Amino acid sequence: MTEVRWSHLRPDAFMQRQQERALVYLPFGLCEPHGHIAPFGLDTLKADHYCLEAAKRSGGIVAPTQGYHIHECGFHQPWLEEVVGDQNPFLAAMPPYVICYHFLYQLRAFANAGFRGVIAVSGHHGGSQNDLRLIGTAFTKQTGIPVTVKTDPEWCEGQYLNDHAGKYEISQLLDLHPELMDMTLLGRQFEPGSGGRLALNPDAGEASAAYGREINEAIIHAITDHADQLVLGPVLKDPISYEETEQIWKEATENLETWHSM
Ligand SMILES: [Zn+2]
Repeated sequence: MTEVRWSHLRPDAFMQRQQERALVYLPFGLCEPHGHIAPFGLDTLKADHYCLEAAKRSGGIVAPTQGYHIHECGFHQPWLEEVVGDQNPFLAAMPPYVICYHFLYQLRAFANAGFRGVIAVSGHHGGSQNDLRLIGTAFTKQTGIPVTVKTDPEWCEGQYLNDHAGKYEISQLLDLHPELMDMTLLGRQFEPGSGGRLALNPDAGEASAAYGREINEAIIHAITDHADQLVLGPVLKDPISYEETEQIWKEATENLETWHSM
């Protein structure tokens, strides 16, 4: 078993992997409802898997997972009202300026730890990735370290039709974590007191592990292709200070009228 997680590597193995490929992966997800049939962390679980597999196949190290994400604001709000209804959505949500500020400091930590390229894979899709990309671009401009931010449907764009908790997403997790799924609960949303559909898409019953395997492999291939072609940035002469990081934040946000997700 090849260990690729920053959290699980001892210094010798970490430095050896980093010398071979100074690339870090950041899995991005959150907890939000995906019907009664699936766990809240579907988005996190798939992002974890894609990063782990990509690092095993193409080299690099996987950073600790970011399990909170932008939600509950802007265009997310009507979505919540429409598909979750009165039920508590049990969300691990934060506004864009909190997540993006944190993301910038994650990038700083990666650069200071010796990484020269960053690939952030978000299992959550819908537009908030644009806010993260704003920060990634500002960081690259200042440091020369390339930062890619893409959601899983963006990695397989044009190949598969994505959705929320429908045939696409439920298939993904049926392949990766069948032990966390219970397809016998498909009709639970119609039982009184069940909390309703909890954002389940009507075509979730068409999902299959085999279809999920196809999608998951296509995504991992796209990520590894990108990783293989990525031109890494320079080795930093000095660590990036907190003050310099604040300056990047200021430059990235001072002319921002509104966050994409707000
Ligand atoms: Zn999802």
